Amino acid sequence: MDSQQSNNQLHVVFLPYPTPGHMIPMVDTARLFAKHGVNVTIITTHANASTFQESIDSDFNSGYSIKTQLIQFPSSQVGLPDGIENVKDVKDGTSPEMLGKISHGMLMLRDPIELRDWVRTTNAATAYFEPIFESEARSYGTICNSFHELESDYEKVSKTTMGIKSWSVGPVSTWANKGDERKGNRGHVEKNVEKERELLNWLNSKQNESVLYVSFGSLTKLFHAQLVEIAHGLEKSGHNFIWVVRKNDRDENEEGFLQDFEERVKESNKGYIIWNWAPQLLILDHPATGGIVTHCGWNSTLESISVGLPMITWPMFAEQFYNERLLVDVLKIGVPVGAKENKLWNSFTVEAMVRREEIAKAAEILLGNGQDSKEMRTRAKKFGDAAKRTIEEGGHSYNNLVQLIDELKSLKKSKALGEKAD
Ligand code: UDP
Repeated sequence: MDSQQSNNQLHVVFLPYPTPGHMIPMVDTARLFAKHGVNVTIITTHANASTFQESIDSDFNSGYSIKTQLIQFPSSQVGLPDGIENVKDVKDGTSPEMLGKISHGMLMLRDPIELRDWVRTTNAATAYFEPIFESEARSYGTICNSFHELESDYEKVSKTTMGIKSWSVGPVSTWANKGDERKGNRGHVEKNVEKERELLNWLNSKQNESVLYVSFGSLTKLFHAQLVEIAHGLEKSGHNFIWVVRKNDRDENEEGFLQDFEERVKESNKGYIIWNWAPQLLILDHPATGGIVTHCGWNSTLESISVGLPMITWPMFAEQFYNERLLVDVLKIGVPVGAKENKLWNSFTVEAMVRREEIAKAAEILLGNGQDSKEMRTRAKKFGDAAKRTIEEGGHSYNNLVQLIDELKSLKKSKALGEKAD
């Protein structure tokens, strides 16, 4: 197992309560998790572990990732003889006094359990993220590029659990670029007027909501075999498409295949290839665009929602898999293509590749005439309308931003007054 994979592997910690009726099924459950590929740790005390350690060792020796992490039960401190760590082991274990001693001992284990270096081993990623999380917890508040109508539940949880203020002020891209003719050029130095006109002419020649826009964000460079599957999948779908292709210089076959493909789709007039960087907002805004295939980067996700477009979700790495769940399960405006691995795109395996049939099938669902597809598109449009309203005067995001700026102004004023008084 390479380190990338072990970082992404699910790690579940089990903490069984020390009576057989709890311990036995919980240990069984832990073993089942391990047998299904989960990295398992059972935290328990020495005497309790001795009742099941053999089966854990045997599972471990058979190749499953399971271990016990032992902690010291404070027997003498709670007035129990050494080795008495389970309700079944104390004489008259059901008396309130004995139960109290065991429970007290368990409570005293809280601190050592929460030291937890076996729960979260430090690696390069945690060393990088921890200072960020710490500074977030110390900060005055967080600004979220989201909006109330989209994520009100998350807004609530964030306010009640993070312990700091938060303001949803999004979608910032829609708001900041409202009415701006140059928005197509955002994030990119080079502007090619001629190419942009050609693209708009192509889009203008297409029926409303008939084009699938395929983009995997600003970083992804897919490997050749995956590009081939996408090309065939798009052709197989029979729908119009715009595909942003970022060349992967490692592969010599790529050039020839993609050029042939580009010529073929130009001839059929079904597809339009954009090399490296697309004027994404212009494309998403165009009435001919009917949906997007996205890696679920948060910006692309919000930009699509803002114009009321449903999505084919194809997460690649990082939090994109969570974004996919939001789109598919919560908002119900996404069709999953079947991405299997949370890995950086340049370390994908051929086994995890998404096949042409899956791509064509997802396109059919997204742009097809089925009742579910129609309902999904209607829901996406509603979110698009909400995104437009929320940034208008009186809307949630509008108010949040105004309040935040006012609050910061008075904070500055009171700070200045405080300094004067000193
Ligand atoms: N983007 C663009 N043209 C491209 C690729 C990306 O304008 O060809 C913009 C896109 O509109 C978005 C950002 O770059 O605003 C990408 O951010 P996202 O969070 O979607 O993905 P990331 O690139 O961070 O993986």
